[in-house]
Amino acid sequence: MTVLEPPSVQTIPPSAAAFRVTNPVTGALIGELPVHNSEAVAQAVRRARDAQPAWEALGVKGRMRCIDAFNRLLWARRDRIIEIIRRETGKTEGGAFTEVLVMDLETLYYKRHAARLLRRQWRTPAYPMANNAQVAYRPYGVVGLITPWNYPLLLGLCDAVQALIAGNAVVIKPSEVTPYTSLQVIEWMREAGLPDDVAQVVTGLGATGAALIDHVDYVSFTGSTATGRKVAVRCAERLIPCSLELGGKDPAIVTADADMDDAARCVLTGALENAGQACVSTERVYVEAAVYEPFMRALTDHAQRVVMSSGGGLGVHVGSMTNERELIRVEEQIAEAVAMGAKVIVGGKRRPDIGPLFFEPTILTDVTHDMRLMRDETFGPLIPVMRVESLDEAVKLANDSEYGLSAAIYSKNIREARRLARRIVAGDVTINHPMLTFATPGAPMGGAPGRQSGIGRRNGAEGLLRFVSPQTVTVDTGLVFAPHLSHTPPRVIAVARLMHHLRRWLPL
Ligand code: NDP
Repeated sequence: MTVLEPPSVQTIPPSAAAFRVTNPVTGALIGELPVHNSEAVAQAVRRARDAQPAWEALGVKGRMRCIDAFNRLLWARRDRIIEIIRRETGKTEGGAFTEVLVMDLETLYYKRHAARLLRRQWRTPAYPMANNAQVAYRPYGVVGLITPWNYPLLLGLCDAVQALIAGNAVVIKPSEVTPYTSLQVIEWMREAGLPDDVAQVVTGLGATGAALIDHVDYVSFTGSTATGRKVAVRCAERLIPCSLELGGKDPAIVTADADMDDAARCVLTGALENAGQACVSTERVYVEAAVYEPFMRALTDHAQRVVMSSGGGLGVHVGSMTNERELIRVEEQIAEAVAMGAKVIVGGKRRPDIGPLFFEPTILTDVTHDMRLMRDETFGPLIPVMRVESLDEAVKLANDSEYGLSAAIYSKNIREARRLARRIVAGDVTINHPMLTFATPGAPMGGAPGRQSGIGRRNGAEGLLRFVSPQTVTVDTGLVFAPHLSHTPPRVIAVARLMHHLRRWLPL
């Protein structure tokens, strides 16, 4: 039985194989979808390639009008998309609403700024008057997006929207766990006026994603570091660019002058976001010794008030986890940590009375960096806390990770907190609010260089410009030099000598 009909946009001939999508809270079947094989993926990309030039020719303002119309439709139908997201992921209503909200913020940002960011630019010529140089930002062509299950709308779509605004056609391969959100969204994009085949979805398992890399001109990947590495290798073999948003092990530092109550609430919000299944969720907490006791009191106090439920309504703080595999990993990390001396002071158990994949928000103390829960990415509601003697020690421990995605600092002294932020190896640092960068459409986010959290940036100018390639057009005006048989006839050398001196004084 197919509960959610496969949307009509699935025009690619399905292969014989199919996969099942189930509701993580009830275990009920949501539907079955085709596994698109390499040939089906190639066909989708060919169609996208045929459709792309007309899309690019609309110009950024024309394209933005379509995306804006889609965004208005998405907002008007938010209850429907929230229902689909929740059915696939088991997340809270508030969590699903946040995905719609951040998409809205992002679209409004690009509505205001995309035309300026993508406009052609004059650049300094070799010899003013003699020639000029202009740079145009051209889309790559077809962008393939391989997306994860934890934020099926936001991570499934935010990069796609940026690629589309830049003038590319897109083919999205959503996670096999949450494909219906992308399918629904693509249908609405067409309804909002996006031309046929400019935005398509191919469904399937990992192999479908791998096949996509073989045909597109650019890959935007969000997911695990292990898979991201495979994606990068394949892109390198094809010599095509990619951006990778991978895992994190994000630290939070609570300084002695923080507001304990606010810091405790923020740490809980940051760690329990999407039941801890977020790349930028708080996964390790370092607290200055002077405030360790009051902070822990505030943290455990607020933790008792966290509402975990499978029901709707904005009063629910924590929903279901989405994957049993992640839940087992969480249990293994806790078991190992406890065996090595950690103490569970809040939570620590499954809650089958609420649903099969519910796990209690869990606070651990007496943890060390020898434990996997302080080193490996945790996709679950764990809050391991360490007491540190100084901010130097906090920075040292925060940076003691193979990851470097995001970090949080809690302090009333913003100037000092900014200084501290500059010492942390992370693509972004938020002060006094968890995961704030993630919801800031004008600011880039992504992994710090040299770490395992990815390459490239999403959002902001950087996020948009990753999907275009600069094409320079230089023109000889014929006003100064006549064509000659070499690049350096006597007249050019004379002008070059003059320019060598003039350039020091004139803005050329
Ligand atoms: P993966 O990295 O395996 O999957 C992400 C996407 O890549 C999915 O669409 C997946 O398809 C696809 N994929 C899988 N294998 C390949 C391949 N060889 N070539 C191309 N695409 C491929 O993440 P998981 O969902 O398995 O989650 C594992 C871990 O990754 C989590 O525990 C978490 O630590 C981390 N993660 C991080 C995320 C982030 O936001 N940075 C998001 C999700 C996970 P399919 O699902 O069909 O296999």
